[in-house]
Amino acid sequence: MAKQSTVRVQDIGGLINQLYPSALAEDWDNVGLQLGDPAAVVERVLVCLDVEEKTIARAEEVGAQLVISHHPLIYRPLKKIAPLDEAGRTVFRALRQEIAVISAHTNLDRAKDGLNDWLATRLSLQQTSPLEQSVADLLKLVVFVPAGHQDAVLEALFIAGAGVIGAYDRCSFRTDGIGSFRGGEGTVPFIGRPGERTEAEELRIETVFPAALAGKVVAKMQKAHPYEEVAFDLYPLANQRSDVGLGRIGILDTALELPDFADQVKQALGLEHLRLAGRCAGLVKKVAVCGGSGASLISHALRQGADCLVTGDVKYHDAQRARAEGLALIDAGHFGTEILMGKHLSEKLTRVAADRQWSLEIIEMIGEEDPFSWI
Ligand SMILES: [Zn+2]
Repeated sequence: MAKQSTVRVQDIGGLINQLYPSALAEDWDNVGLQLGDPAAVVERVLVCLDVEEKTIARAEEVGAQLVISHHPLIYRPLKKIAPLDEAGRTVFRALRQEIAVISAHTNLDRAKDGLNDWLATRLSLQQTSPLEQSVADLLKLVVFVPAGHQDAVLEALFIAGAGVIGAYDRCSFRTDGIGSFRGGEGTVPFIGRPGERTEAEELRIETVFPAALAGKVVAKMQKAHPYEEVAFDLYPLANQRSDVGLGRIGILDTALELPDFADQVKQALGLEHLRLAGRCAGLVKKVAVCGGSGASLISHALRQGADCLVTGDVKYHDAQRARAEGLALIDAGHFGTEILMGKHLSEKLTRVAADRQWSLEIIEMIGEEDPFSWI
């Protein structure tokens, strides 16, 4: 099969935004394109947790024109770009070598099949759902379609990604009624004649979709709709999505004593050490996870009846609180709970690129190191 010859930074940025919508990111975050020309051609991509000077060096070595990182390259505003410190050297070198950088941070944490789903799967959690459902980025589309054309319009909407509610897809609702209109001069009405008030049997179709898909959904709907002027409404919804959010909670197949579960976490994440805090009265069965720094989710873990929260960056007072409230805390480290993203994101992008017949090689960064060590 013929492969598409040219993939650009902006194509990959669009794909990342489709998989991990930037609308899911925290307000304080800086996700998406960090540096580089959106129109630059990409043949190889390097996927990593952090962008450092050695990452850009590795990108040069493997011939990657784009780096995709979890932690944003530019987080605080840069006051100057000069090779005088690590951040400056990294940006300076990337610019000189024309290597673009895209970051997917809290959007990757929250999204379906993102970092926290990968972490939960790695720890063998079953029946997982978000620990904190905090995102309301859904839109409702209402469109009026002449009788007989509803299936074509609905099909177009579903193909564009509308109609997904939790584990259900192709969700919609419709009612019938009478629509009225009068075409002005120069119109070519699908039903009736210009200048004549016309009534037509129409169906009111309703469906929902994530706001990030709005452009695609509306374009596909308009293409499948027979009217030259389509009547439709878009409403922002305050509903919280059940499929995305910070952290995940799930259950273990077999309940374990806390030290045994801690051993299992060490093995699953390839760690030699981790820190234990808090306490667990009985066995560990229900487990909450949050990659990176998730101690702010202690309340959510308690509310949802978790026996243990696995995260990183646990502070003294978090540990104290967990002990008082009867929640076990496993601090597997910020790096320890996030480094797995390189492997999973590389695999996922490789699959999607193949589906799109993109001629693109995705390479995982090797040799990233936890800045902490144990002695
Ligand atoms: Zn992190």
